[in-house]
Amino acid sequence: MQLSERQEKILELVKKSSPMTGEQIASQLNLNRATLRPDLTILTMAGVLEARPRVGYFYNGNAGPSPIAQRFRQLRVGDFKSIAAAVKESISIYDAVVSMFTNNVGSLIVINDERELKGMVSRKDILKASLGNMDLHGMPISVIMTRMPNIIMAASDESVLEAARKLVQHQIDTLPVVESYINEGGRESFEVVGRFTKTNVTSLFVELGQDKFPNTAKWF
Ligand code: ADP
Repeated sequence: MQLSERQEKILELVKKSSPMTGEQIASQLNLNRATLRPDLTILTMAGVLEARPRVGYFYNGNAGPSPIAQRFRQLRVGDFKSIAAAVKESISIYDAVVSMFTNNVGSLIVINDERELKGMVSRKDILKASLGNMDLHGMPISVIMTRMPNIIMAASDESVLEAARKLVQHQIDTLPVVESYINEGGRESFEVVGRFTKTNVTSLFVELGQDKFPNTAKWF
């Protein structure tokens, strides 16, 4: 983060004698409190200063998040998600394989007629079914899918960092992106609005590395 000359001065003061109130900092710099407020807000939001109510500002050193971490926290899943490759729970395992090829995906999101999330089927689920001599044409994917409530999901307003952490932690390739609602039976359900995958994270990583966001201002 590039600091202005005044922000550097504020940091120097607070580094020397934490905690300092806004008034104390302002009087040392011969400025009024209102002039200083935007700088203090920026430094606090960046994590360089910590503001404790009724005590004052503390210097946080380099403890604040790095610029790249800050960016990842600001980016939202909804801005990077892909269209959901979703199939109905009644289709056969054979048709699921065809759908994986036609949609060029390795995992399928399984939904019912109301687009309510029911489960996930991955390549390995299908390989396992093939080894077991199952009737691939007659057997519906609902038999082999990982089903709700065991599905790990993401929301559109969730940070990309949090979603990527879920992919790593649970060793999965795809998170269905969902909107929660209460169905007619009064139960919480999840409508599928997209998918967020390891490929989305990799593409984002490449774009960040190349400083090549098409409309950067939207996110930063
Ligand atoms: P694969 O191992 O086939 O390359 P994954 O790693 O995504 O694909 O899937 C591993 C297992 O986790 C499979 O059994 C799959 O059904 C299940 N799975 C996939 N995505 C999810 C998810 N979002 N939540 C819970 N389970 C999932």
